[in-house]
Amino acid sequence: MGAIVAIVGRPNVGKSTFFNRLIQRREAIVDAVSGVTRDRHYGKSDWNGKEFSIIDTGGYVVGSDDVFEKEIDKQVELAIEEADAIIFMVDVETGVTGMDEDVAKLLRRVKKPVFLAVNKVDNAKRAEDAVEFYSLGLGEYYTLSSINGGGTGELLDDLVEKLPDVIEEKSELPRFAVVGRPNAGKSSFINALIGEDRYIVTDIAGTTRDSIDTKYNRFGFEFNLVDTAGIRRKAKVKEDLEFYSVMRSVRAIEHCDVCILLLDATRGFDGQVENIFWLAQRNHKGIVILVNKWDLVEEKETNTIKHYTDKIKKAIEPFTDVPILFVSVLTKQRIFKAIETAVEVYNKRNKKIVTRKFNETMLPIIENYPPPAYKGKFVKIKFCTQLPTPYPQFAFFCNLPQYVREPYKRYLENKIREEYDFSGVPITVFMRKK
Ligand code: GDP
Ligand code: GDP
Repeated sequence: MGAIVAIVGRPNVGKSTFFNRLIQRREAIVDAVSGVTRDRHYGKSDWNGKEFSIIDTGGYVVGSDDVFEKEIDKQVELAIEEADAIIFMVDVETGVTGMDEDVAKLLRRVKKPVFLAVNKVDNAKRAEDAVEFYSLGLGEYYTLSSINGGGTGELLDDLVEKLPDVIEEKSELPRFAVVGRPNAGKSSFINALIGEDRYIVTDIAGTTRDSIDTKYNRFGFEFNLVDTAGIRRKAKVKEDLEFYSVMRSVRAIEHCDVCILLLDATRGFDGQVENIFWLAQRNHKGIVILVNKWDLVEEKETNTIKHYTDKIKKAIEPFTDVPILFVSVLTKQRIFKAIETAVEVYNKRNKKIVTRKFNETMLPIIENYPPPAYKGKFVKIKFCTQLPTPYPQFAFFCNLPQYVREPYKRYLENKIREEYDFSGVPITVFMRKK
């Protein structure tokens, strides 16, 4: 699992500009493929080889100016509670405002790394103006120009250095996270799973502050449910805050082996569901999609399910090899099947293919359809193997790895999927020099 970084600050300081700059490269590729523009406020980024999730809290502020202030305080408090590091963004054009001072007051008490980022420092004159932000009492600051990228390197260097090193620790049991938009039926699903309290075996305090694995024994399967803490604390927290649920989802996704992604059939696989899907994929987690509230869908001709499935597959191209189940938590239809499928995905994600067999299978396939010549050069793939990582990654060794293009890598991925069942599991194909 990786660390979570939250960007806080009042509206218009440039948070989303900065955020988009950070997640741009990677996610732009996904966009080009699915052809969908997404309203995206969280994503995965990396710097100096270190990956982290980043959340633009500003994306969740709604309301008029006076509502803003209260909302922002609430968000800062949640960010303090949930994130591993905080970037507090201010605007050199406007200088220090009262709202900045309120946020700074909350942040001064925080033990986690806080980075004060003075944005819109587009020129040297403005760099001088930035000194007034010392008055916020947060110590050193970073000057940025999110619009042209200036200063972002220094900030990110220090940020990734101070982020806690979080390595994916192995768990004895499959860890499932139930994720989705508010009202998809997540709590109902978990309650249906839990049944009565006797199914709970133990609470295991997780390695991160309040993410808790709860061990269940149900339908003959043993598994940990990640982040039921969020549900237990329901009374305490404003659950209607979309930002809060996003924060918890990101944390739960980072912490699990398989994401059970629930969506409301009557609302469809919309941009926000899609966003959660890609976050899980980017984190190399197993995925099962549950189309919930199927009892509310009237027309049940044989084709309804197929149409629905096709629509989802279109949205998740090219990673379409994912189980999609139509369930009703209310009537308990296919709840058992959902858990059974999640366990299967978990097992596939842990699968190790013997290298000799892998070569026997893949090399003839490659011989039949070798990588197309590129710039007049021929690529010869000599050997391949699964890497010893916690999730499936495959390396193909060849003379000219840089000449193998994305479409051919996708071809190899598809062949691996055809030969070995990796349904629901993101896999990565690397070309390596031999
Ligand atoms: P947010 O509300 O904090 O997410 O702010 P936005 O990212 O939407 O930016 C608010 C405005 O500030 C937009 O018009 C941006 O183009 C502008 N802006 C953002 N970063 C910079 C910067 O580095 N320099 C300048 N001059 N303008 C910026
Ligand atoms: P959460 O916000 O994702 O945890 O969603 P909840 O579990 O609180 O459910 C939101 C609403 O959807 C509640 O009123 C549930 O009773 C209802 N609901 C959940 N699952 C189903 C279902 O399968 N069918 C129908 N008709 N309603 C459901």
